[in-house]
Amino acid sequence: MERGHLSSVTCAGSYIDSYDPSTGEVYCRVPNSGKDEIEAAVKAAREAFPGWSSRSPQERSRVLNQVADLLEQSLEEFAQAESKDQGKTLALARTMDIPRSVQNFRFFASSILHHTSECTQMDHLGCMHYTVRAPVGVAGLISPWNLPLYLLTWKIAPAIAAGNTVVAKPSELTSVTAWMLCTLLDKAGFPHPASCLQRQKGATAGVPPGVVNIVFGTGPRVGEALVSHPEVPLISFTGSQPTAERITQLSAPHCKKLSLELGGKNPAIIFEDANLDECIPATVRSSFANQGEICLCTSRIFVQKSIYTEFLKRFVEATRKWKVGIPSDPLASMGALISKAHLEKVRSYVKRALAEGAQIWCGEGVDKLNLPARSQAGYFMLPTVITDIKDESCCMTEEIFGPVTCVVPFDSEEEVIERANNVKYGLAATVWSSNVGRVHRVAKKLQSGLVWTNCWLIRELNLPFGGMKSSGIGREGAKDSYDFFTEIKTITVKH
Ligand code: NAD
Repeated sequence: MERGHLSSVTCAGSYIDSYDPSTGEVYCRVPNSGKDEIEAAVKAAREAFPGWSSRSPQERSRVLNQVADLLEQSLEEFAQAESKDQGKTLALARTMDIPRSVQNFRFFASSILHHTSECTQMDHLGCMHYTVRAPVGVAGLISPWNLPLYLLTWKIAPAIAAGNTVVAKPSELTSVTAWMLCTLLDKAGFPHPASCLQRQKGATAGVPPGVVNIVFGTGPRVGEALVSHPEVPLISFTGSQPTAERITQLSAPHCKKLSLELGGKNPAIIFEDANLDECIPATVRSSFANQGEICLCTSRIFVQKSIYTEFLKRFVEATRKWKVGIPSDPLASMGALISKAHLEKVRSYVKRALAEGAQIWCGEGVDKLNLPARSQAGYFMLPTVITDIKDESCCMTEEIFGPVTCVVPFDSEEEVIERANNVKYGLAATVWSSNVGRVHRVAKKLQSGLVWTNCWLIRELNLPFGGMKSSGIGREGAKDSYDFFTEIKTITVKH
């Protein structure tokens, strides 16, 4: 991506500097749209809705598959851009972010063909009842910076597969692949009057213009304009809990349909009968993958007392081997954090832990970062392991969203379930044990939308994804996304 690429298009309003996290330098500028661009995008989406929603699922499916094919053909280009813009390793962008974005389109292109509705009879009254589902209208989609294209497409694909038209906003910190997606959607027959592009009315046959509109800019400016718009009846949001609170307030006067996918403070529970050869590398990965910037990352590790010392020794050794490097380094397991402000915030948790008397076993303040000269001002941090910390500490209760994890001992199953549940979040948990009965028992009692046992981050897109408590409202997945992006109606016929 060249400097200034995003700003090379006419855009009403201002621009935001976008930083390369691996150098700390500004490398492009992102349009900072506002109310006028939202008005234009919503208008275009409204106009496109009747045409798009009346297409058959098969026709919509074909277009989604076309987008998937085009994206797959450009996988390397998108992976390079995502890595540069976000700071993640190129290897991760190549193997996870972009392939999963491709899969999002393919998955919903397929699942949209397989929904059925319900029908019941009341013979004694001469009635039959059935349900129909219809797309809601213009869907407002807002996504965060940690998995930029992956999460944006996880919203766009089900929304349009179900027949909605969309106005989507990526994070202002990571807008580049969303911008590239605009060009690609044009090729697939989705001309999009994005906030800063000229509308190409009638430019292609088949698909109405305005089905997908992508707007760029900050949350308080363009995000709030989208959420508050009276003609956007549905908001799908992935991001932090404080933003979700604001979105809920702004949506309340309009009774909008809301899906909120928020943060977590995810526990890993490691019993004495766990297979440590598998558990340790998986827990290093679950703690530090994508710089610890995944909502599903482990940040509290509860280890049964009898194996605590052995686990800690081996876990710290394995963490020290987790190389931090520039995103293009093929040997790097971790790249740079998203921003200077975020790096400082993550580091501040380590300082607070130290002030509370905790011990830092490796990483921040203990080991030395080894980076090339050009990356000295990049937002890098070593994976950090904290022990001797109380459950009440902010490091054990607040989402840090960086490469910091706490390891604490426990005695019994009942005790660890209670401690694991004792936070406001409830997104994901992992349980490690070779006792099948225990695995089922513990998984059932954890207050968590997802529980992985003896593994981490194996996703089945058909099944519900989402969090409990402050981790969100609603679920996403084949049926769940379809339910969210459609309205159901019950029809009764007397014969
Ligand atoms: P954030 O809440 O700051 O921003 C998310 C998006 O909301 C961005 O596009 C931002 O511009 C927009 N936004 C900000 N303020 C807004 C407002 N007032 N009105 C409308 N939109 C607004 O979150 P972030 O820092 O980008 O992302 C990190 C958070 O996302 C973490 O808490 C993480 O756990 C969470 N997350 C959750 C999931 C999940 O599936 N549960 C997945 C990824 C990330």
